[in-house]
Amino acid sequence: SDQRLYLGMDFGTSGARFALIDKHGTIFSEAKREYPKYMSEETIDWIRSWKTTLFSLLEDVPVNLRQLIASISIDGTSATTIILDSNTGESLWRPFLYSESCPDALPMVKSIAPANHTVCSGTSTLCKLVSWWNIEGANKTSAVLLHQADWLLWLLHGKLGVSDYNNALKVGYDPEVESYPPWLLSQPYSQLLPSVKAPGASIGFLKEDIRTKFGFPKDCVVCTGTTDSIAAFLAARATEPGKSVTSLGSTLAIKLLSTNRIEDARFGVYSHRLDDKWLVGGASNTGGAVLRQIFTDEQLEKLSDLINPMEASPLDYYPLQAVGERFPLADPEMAPRLHPRPQSDVEYLHGILESIARIEAKAYRLLKDLGATQVEEVFTAGGGAKNEKWIRIRERVLGLPVRRAIQTEAAYGAALLALKGAQHN
Ligand code: ADP
Repeated sequence: SDQRLYLGMDFGTSGARFALIDKHGTIFSEAKREYPKYMSEETIDWIRSWKTTLFSLLEDVPVNLRQLIASISIDGTSATTIILDSNTGESLWRPFLYSESCPDALPMVKSIAPANHTVCSGTSTLCKLVSWWNIEGANKTSAVLLHQADWLLWLLHGKLGVSDYNNALKVGYDPEVESYPPWLLSQPYSQLLPSVKAPGASIGFLKEDIRTKFGFPKDCVVCTGTTDSIAAFLAARATEPGKSVTSLGSTLAIKLLSTNRIEDARFGVYSHRLDDKWLVGGASNTGGAVLRQIFTDEQLEKLSDLINPMEASPLDYYPLQAVGERFPLADPEMAPRLHPRPQSDVEYLHGILESIARIEAKAYRLLKDLGATQVEEVFTAGGGAKNEKWIRIRERVLGLPVRRAIQTEAAYGAALLALKGAQHN
């Protein structure tokens, strides 16, 4: 038969998954692996753990389906940085993890980058690169920088030094003009920077030894990936400007597809490029973590059942886990507001859910005021997405259709990138 399948892999914070889909997006197989966490000199050997997980997942792909796989793509955690020796392919330093901060490099980065640029944060890839560059005795001549997804993909295709413009944003790449900016190219460490393609662009064929070992077909191509949060957005298939995904996990994160690019460092709002559109993002500190401080997930379900979502709650809260908010209100001193607490827990929860919905509405209003495309339809992901009553409350408060996203796994989004890469090949 001429049936072809597309393999996406997601390397997230706690483990990795794959999803295998056909051209209609139907899932044929999926699986999950925890990282084995090999130790080396008292720290986790992430290079070995990720590499082992990559090949374990390939083994988890059912043998009879492998022959049908036309393409592979991978997403990884944003700003997870690996520096390799281009002669040996060995890493020159332990990986810098997504959450790791390199404040030592910040003054130098701030002195070269425009004010409020994405790289001006201690966790940016550029700060990690500069921090490594400043280490005495670092082997600089043959070094190359890769993001986690680039490195995993390199293990599959073997062409060193390829990235995508989503992963490369935090090292300073400008996806609008499709190059690194002059202030970065004039730095000596710019020689480490990878070349950059669109996410879901074919890089080359799967390495022959891997292909024959696992039984993948001869024409199987490896495609550039993206970051894990963008892959999760892609999974929801919100492909038109004005469609968005609100993630109701521990925090509330918004990603809106827009025809134009907006940035505002005050609110932590910035845009990733997706082909001819922009994915505008912002994250509030409100969200499910506050709910979990007050109610168990079981209580949340039982109490939610008793809420009438058509009735507006008069309670006006600003639920936060700790002091400080950035988006849609930039106020590092903002205190959580969860009082007065009514006698009835149903009314209390109603007030909290409705208050979070008002923050969501304010967030979409702010994105519009900053110049993004007006939101028309909201998909929802995360632990809060299963709450039907909350969805109804949000529809009323936002004045928009709100739906639970059918697919929310980043691995599914990566599989869609593999599909894209195979179609354009
Ligand atoms: P994260 O991955 O960001 O930690 P999840 O996407 O797993 O979070 O979502 C977990 C959150 O979902 C918890 O903070 C919890 O309060 C919230 N949650 C779980 N069940 C419900 C529910 N029925 N209604 C609203 N929120 C819920």
